[in-house]
Amino acid sequence: MTAPAPSNQNSNPAALEREIERRRTFAIISHPDAGKTTMTEKLLLYGGAIQEAGSVTAKEGRSHTKSDWMSIEQQRGISISSSALTFEYGGKHVNLLDTPGHQDFSEDTYRTLTAADSALMVLDAARGVQSQTEKLFAVCRNRGIPILTFVNKMDRPALDAFELVAQVEETLKITAVPLTWPIGDGPDFKGVYDLLTNQVLTFDRTSGGKHRAPVHTAGLDDPKLDELVGSDLANKLREDVELIQGAMPAFDADTFLRGELTPVFFGSAINNFGVEHFLSHFVDLAPSPGPVETNLGERQPSAGFAGFIFKLQANMSKQHRDRTAYMRVMSGHFERGMDVTHTRTGRKLRLSQAHTLFAQDREKVEEAFPGDIVGLVNPGVFQIGDVVSVDGKVTLPSFPRFTPETFATISLRDVGKRKAFMKGLTQLAEEGVVQVFYPTDGARDPYLGAVGPLQFEVFQARLQEEYGVEVDMHVTGYQLVRWLAGDPEGVARFARHVEDDQGRPVMLFRSRYDLEYTAEQHPEIEFLPLPKDL
Ligand code: GDP
Repeated sequence: MTAPAPSNQNSNPAALEREIERRRTFAIISHPDAGKTTMTEKLLLYGGAIQEAGSVTAKEGRSHTKSDWMSIEQQRGISISSSALTFEYGGKHVNLLDTPGHQDFSEDTYRTLTAADSALMVLDAARGVQSQTEKLFAVCRNRGIPILTFVNKMDRPALDAFELVAQVEETLKITAVPLTWPIGDGPDFKGVYDLLTNQVLTFDRTSGGKHRAPVHTAGLDDPKLDELVGSDLANKLREDVELIQGAMPAFDADTFLRGELTPVFFGSAINNFGVEHFLSHFVDLAPSPGPVETNLGERQPSAGFAGFIFKLQANMSKQHRDRTAYMRVMSGHFERGMDVTHTRTGRKLRLSQAHTLFAQDREKVEEAFPGDIVGLVNPGVFQIGDVVSVDGKVTLPSFPRFTPETFATISLRDVGKRKAFMKGLTQLAEEGVVQVFYPTDGARDPYLGAVGPLQFEVFQARLQEEYGVEVDMHVTGYQLVRWLAGDPEGVARFARHVEDDQGRPVMLFRSRYDLEYTAEQHPEIEFLPLPKDL
């Protein structure tokens, strides 16, 4: 029995507007170990999604595996999908996109950022801006999304706060404006001063970070400040604040929304300090979903339903061995069972039964709004960047792929497993675990390309676990890949070329010098860091 399909129009425009305005969809970017996982947990704690984050982390000496999340899910009966954590705070509906940590850092991380409306950059107070933060920041910068900064681990000896702010500005070429200011650091860390509300929030140490941190307040001129933090730190704070107010630019919301200014907060996630304070500012400052650039011009979030696929994942759960496509709603009201058109193939799809938010126990999504993430069971229809919509003609002009920087050859141990191998290779490449390049002579094994070498290990492990295929991998001396364009005959003459999974010719190089030399010898050919049609 099939229920009648719901209407394709947004039936209640005022309600839709309200839901759009309430949405805050963001992702956390950071270098491994800066505290992304801890921050995520604490945000969930303050968002009321879990009661006591400490009880989860204390359990097994802080191992954050997927099963930890699964067990949180089971304990609390909430849906923490591997892709978006959702909670309500201050009347806002917050979607925190989960970007994989360093264990499986990959192109997938980058892709997830395409579904975010803002980003939180978490820095380690002792280390400042680190290499992976820079890479991820660049992606956000390219998209022009606003970025907020949280300087974490203030309970440990930290770099000078002025130096940290300067480092953000110089390394990342963005204006950084502190909205809070730390009082001391390491064992002397006493709290932060809120430069917007002129309040002092003092830090009370809690054992194991188990409870919400109590907060006291006192103005800068309040003599109680000296009592609370000691007169040395109180005086230093007064001097610092004078310097900040005299020398640093004021916070400007428009510049922030254009992605040219980052507000900076300080705290200690593990101790729950500064997190809720950040969150309360975040829901005010961060943008709700805006228009999306499409082939048909800007699509407003209030237009008819459209969503795009930003991530594919195979074999997420042992019970349901299939693939999930993660769709971000870009406009309109999504209702389960609605009829849409898949632009790339022109196929009509009914987003019904099969379309559920993917969690340990699948939970049906009855409706969703712009900014929300919906997991769709993927019977092989969806590719990254695909659009489904009620009007059927929408496409996204480009979807970022990232240029691999390390390459490995791969060979199959048991040639009898070729079929499973090819399936795994295709599906894992589709997910963005690695990129695959095929030598055009067909005789040799493919090359895998990755942004970081850890991706190869993840690939190898997943191939074995999920497809039962063992492979040997050897990291090669290649460091660069270039897509070839220009004179077709010239391109065809290159004997050494390999092609990507779409059959586009590429060439691998051992060094920048190698690339420059080849490019000089062949001015008729363009050597592009990404395929031309992206
Ligand atoms: P991720 O790799 O960015 O996800 O980082 P994690 O959240 O797993 O944190 C890395 C390590 O730093 C863990 O041992 C955390 O307990 C620790 N950590 C996180 N936040 C803080 C903090 O505010 N202060 C201190 N001292 N340690 C922290």
